[in-house]
Order: sequence, then structure tokens, then C-alpha cells
Amino acid sequence: MLFDTNNITINELKDPLFTLKKVKLMVLRLDKIHPIVSGNKLFKLHYFLEQAIKIPNKSIVTFGGAYSNHLVATAYACKRLQLQCKGIVRGERPPVLSHTLKACLQYGMELEFVTRELYSSMSQKSESDNEKIIIPEGGYHPIGAKGASLIMDFLQLEKVSHICTAVGTATTLAGLILKANNDQRIIAVPVLKGFFDIPERLEYLTGKIDFPNLTILNEYHFGGYAKKSNDLLFLMNQLYEKFELPTDFVYTGKMMFGIWDQIKKDFFPEGSIIACIHTGGLQGNDSLPAGSLIF
Ligand SMILES: *Cc1c(COP(=O)(O)O)cnc(C)c1O
Repeated sequence: MLFDTNNITINELKDPLFTLKKVKLMVLRLDKIHPIVSGNKLFKLHYFLEQAIKIPNKSIVTFGGAYSNHLVATAYACKRLQLQCKGIVRGERPPVLSHTLKACLQYGMELEFVTRELYSSMSQKSESDNEKIIIPEGGYHPIGAKGASLIMDFLQLEKVSHICTAVGTATTLAGLILKANNDQRIIAVPVLKGFFDIPERLEYLTGKIDFPNLTILNEYHFGGYAKKSNDLLFLMNQLYEKFELPTDFVYTGKMMFGIWDQIKKDFFPEGSIIACIHTGGLQGNDSLPAGSLIF
């Protein structure tokens, strides 16, 4: 990896429920890489950045909305690697910039605001020339998936039977699938409602057509992207109280809710060793009303 990954830990959570169901639950703490930058984003960027740093004066161009974890991760990575970068932002420039976009500027990213129409026509592109490397929105590209597959290296020492992740573009999921063994099951928790094209996305991202070890849990989106409920916030507070595990309400809280619920419902056979990927995203909680969370 181009970044320091020494802080990453894998922690087992101990709870009477898991003893009762005879399963083990671990969390791979990619959120510990950086307080603002989502752990999985740096992995997805890895091979794009590796290409960029080999060529003098190459710059990075990428895309995102005003709250994009991907934009801020790219800005951070480019600053660390001394690469020029530009973020194309969806929609008109607002009078007050979001904290995410402010962070992008602080890391030295140039921002260009484009209309939604123009944005949708350009944001899925990835083409590189002598001057710039264009990374599609969210790193949604086979190169992004290959980078995400490096996450699996942090699970090699554990005999993990199930690997769980929240899903946005499915690029991280594709990375896990690329390196999973035949006897490992990958559990996907989409955070968007009506997200039915995951197999097609995975085909593009991995080059495979068949995903026998994949289970998609479609019932934990809580009404859609960045939607939430009191039950979700309650579980997040419990996770913190019991295990000092902070989660975010957009991605990792929903994943943990889904996995916890499925353990209760006996989805996981006795003896399962379940690893949940904590992809980060904690700064997203800043948009919750004060006092919603105990951390
Ligand atoms: C972006 C993000 C995801 C989703 O990753 P995809 O590769 O787009 O599916 C999950 N968790 C966090 C915290 C994220 O920021």
C-alpha cells in the first residue's frame, strides 16, 4: 500500500448472542487508517495512484457530490503523494461549501462545479492520457476493484468463513470477491434502495459472470441512501457502548445492523467466523442532529 496501514486492527466482538449462536464476529478496522478518509477509498485508489506517481507531472481528475467520501479521499491521497488533482463536483457551486468540499480544498484539490446533466455524462469515464488519469466516480472501475482486493490481505491470518461489507458502487465488494476462497461467503449490504444491478456491476468490475459465494442482503437500506431510523441509531449506540466500536449511519451502521439481525435469525451456521469490514465514513455522522449518538 502507498499509505501507512499499521493502524489497521482486527477485533473480535464478544456478546452472549454470539456465544448462544456459536459464531465469532470480528471487525476489520479500516477506519483506523485516517479519521476523515474512508479506509476503503484509499484501497480503491491504490493502482490509479501507483500509475500516476510513475509519470512526472501527471495529474488526477475525479468526480463526486458535495458530500463525497471519494472526493476527499482522493484529495488527501494526492496531497500525500504530491500529485495535482481536480475534483469535478455535481451541481452548481453553493454559497457555502460543505465540510467535505472544504476539506478537499484544504488538501489542495482544485474544484470545478458542473451542471447535473454534464456531470452524469462525464462521471463514469475513465481514460488516461499523457497528462492526466481520470478516475470514475467512487473509483467504479476494474482498477478500483483490484485495489480493493488488497483489503483481503488483512484477513489472511484468520480463518474467516464470511466477509461482510456495505455496498455503494459495489467496487469494494468486487475487490473482496476477486480474492475470496471458494469456501468463503461474501455478504453484501446495499445502502441504497432498489439496488438491483449488483451482478451486472460485478461482471464489469471483476470480469467474472458467476458469483456463487455472494449473498446480497437487500433489506437493510432503511429507506434509501443516508436514510435512517431510531433502531439504526440505537444499535450504533449499543455497538459503541458495548465494544467501543464507532460506526457511521450511511454505511457501516447499516452493515452491522444487517449482520446482527441475521445472526439472530440463524443465517450463519454454527462455527461461522464472520468478518465485517469497517470501511470508515465516520465523518458522515457530523450531519446528524446533535445528541443522536453517544460518540
Ligand atoms: C464509499 C463507501 C462505501 C461503499 O464502497 P463501494 O466500493 O462504493 O461500494 C462503504 N463504506 C464507506 C464508509 C464508504 O465511504
